[in-house]
Amino acid sequence: MPDAPTAEKIEFRAEVRQLLNILAHSLYTEREIFLRELISNASDALNRIQFEMLTHRDVLDHDAELKITLTGSDDGKTLTIADTGIGMTKEELVENLGAIAHSGAAAFLESLQAGQKADDIIGRFGVGFYSALMVADEIVVTSRSYRPDSSAWTWTTQGGDSYTLAPADKPDRGTVITLKLKDDAGEFGKDWRIEQIIHKHSDFVAFPIYIKDRAVNKQTALWRQSLASVTDEQASEFYRQFTLEFEPPLLRAHLNTDAPVQVYAMLFIPAKGERGLLSARREEGLKLYSRKVLIQDYCKDLLPHHFRFVQGVVDSEDLPLNVSRETVQSNKVMERIKTALTHKLIDELKKLAADDKEKYAEFWKQFGAYVKEGVALDHAGREKLYPLLRFHTSRTGEGEMAPLTDYVGRVQPSQKSIYYLLANSAKSASISPHLDSFRKHNLEVLYLTDPLDSFMVQGLREYEGFKLQNADDPALDLPKDDSKAAEAETPSGEFDGLIARFKSQLGERVADVRDSERLVDSPARLVAPDGASGAEMDRIRRLLGKEAETPKRVLEINRRHAIIRRLAEMAAAGESESLVSACIDQLYESALLIEGLHPDPASMLPRIQQIMEAAVGR
Ligand code: ADP
Repeated sequence: MPDAPTAEKIEFRAEVRQLLNILAHSLYTEREIFLRELISNASDALNRIQFEMLTHRDVLDHDAELKITLTGSDDGKTLTIADTGIGMTKEELVENLGAIAHSGAAAFLESLQAGQKADDIIGRFGVGFYSALMVADEIVVTSRSYRPDSSAWTWTTQGGDSYTLAPADKPDRGTVITLKLKDDAGEFGKDWRIEQIIHKHSDFVAFPIYIKDRAVNKQTALWRQSLASVTDEQASEFYRQFTLEFEPPLLRAHLNTDAPVQVYAMLFIPAKGERGLLSARREEGLKLYSRKVLIQDYCKDLLPHHFRFVQGVVDSEDLPLNVSRETVQSNKVMERIKTALTHKLIDELKKLAADDKEKYAEFWKQFGAYVKEGVALDHAGREKLYPLLRFHTSRTGEGEMAPLTDYVGRVQPSQKSIYYLLANSAKSASISPHLDSFRKHNLEVLYLTDPLDSFMVQGLREYEGFKLQNADDPALDLPKDDSKAAEAETPSGEFDGLIARFKSQLGERVADVRDSERLVDSPARLVAPDGASGAEMDRIRRLLGKEAETPKRVLEINRRHAIIRRLAEMAAAGESESLVSACIDQLYESALLIEGLHPDPASMLPRIQQIMEAAVGR
């Protein structure tokens, strides 16, 4: 024992002082969660020693049972939480308990800075270890590290600005935390109350939690049980304790298989795309066990990146126990597990889509963007995602969305492509001039209205032999329009004159002006110049902020349209010069507007007014 008989007094770091000050002045709604926090720390410490023992024999008390023991006092004065976990050296006590590293406490302070009120959240949030100060006037931590040559130390605080450290006498490995309970917190010294809290918050902790001689938590590895024996309630309760999300999961997938790889897994799709403020899961990734030993808390290599919103636990007998956290990634078994999990997840989603359309629609609303990302970026896996996609189309009703199979099921006999249109909304798509001939020939068009869709179609080139084609492509091979009434057309001479007039007036604003083969009910439209990148790339560039300027397009005009016919007449006769000019500008800018390209729609108002004045004959 070093000759340091008296306790050293040490100041807390500034952020801890700030936190303790908030704790001292807050009202708590759910104080009981302090126990969840301390048990969770103990369980982490046990996980870590278990992992350590896989690689090092040289561990103090190698054969000690891995457990947590809670001891209350009937007089309600104290509660002790002891574990046989990894323990802490003197330096670690200072480092871990004297400062805030990565704990819930740090997230808590952040959310305070973001404007949350302390009282509202502190009770539910848990601020890690310091939560104990909600119920205790004094915390005494005595710990001995697993390193055989380490000695035990006692760390004590009453809150405030400082703590003390003193050498201690603890022969065995682990940590003992004694809480001197506040006068109004005596309930937390009572066995029945402690047991109640364990069932509510810590039932699935993987190590036994003893009160007296009895392990009171279920400790079931729920994911290792047979599929049929796990009820929805059990799964939801497990999910709640695991994630601290209040809403039950949207979907669970339970995998229990031996081939081609042995794996137990329980995966959850959360109810919401955003992690809850109080979520216990700080990062993306699944919890990975190998033969019940926790290998990684946030393993990101078990599912493709686009499924990173999935929560859950994976446990395999086939993973070598001596894998280190670093080599997990390069392991072949991991690859096989990943494939099995991905299949399972997609299968369950397909089942959901078939069995419960409404719930699937909710999934799509919350997580559709991730699926689209997968289609855009995952070369090897994208095709498996196609059945999950949903689209507004020119046939779906309002708010309704259809899968690609529906589209393919109702194509016209001669149709060889799946057509889509990029638009700002289903409404603007439905009146787009690009769809004139699609409407006429009864061809269905997918409405791609989400900014992400332009990325997605870069990946989705073909579905079941049907090529995807942009409806605004002037080179599309559509059925010819045989109903062209020759007498309705603008005479060629006049039309050529009008084209020349458009060109000289619009000048640099357009790449060209020409006749259109496709337009039926619309007077004009904008298309990409030959050889230019299409609308998708334009959109992507604008999304990335790379394209501030309005792109130069080709203006196509419809010689069969009444407006064009009359304009050509007027231009040829030199009639109402200023009205003709206004109409030409307006036709161009209306076309910009429907493409979502108009930089300043309000600037059109004086001109529209001028045209209306002419129309009412002023
Ligand atoms: P968090 O657990 O979120 O990291 P805490 O404030 O609860 O934050 O704990 C801070 C650190 O103290 C932990 O990360 C851990 O290193 C250490 N610690 C807390 N309790 C124990 C324990 N029972 N055994 C070993 N280390 C512990």
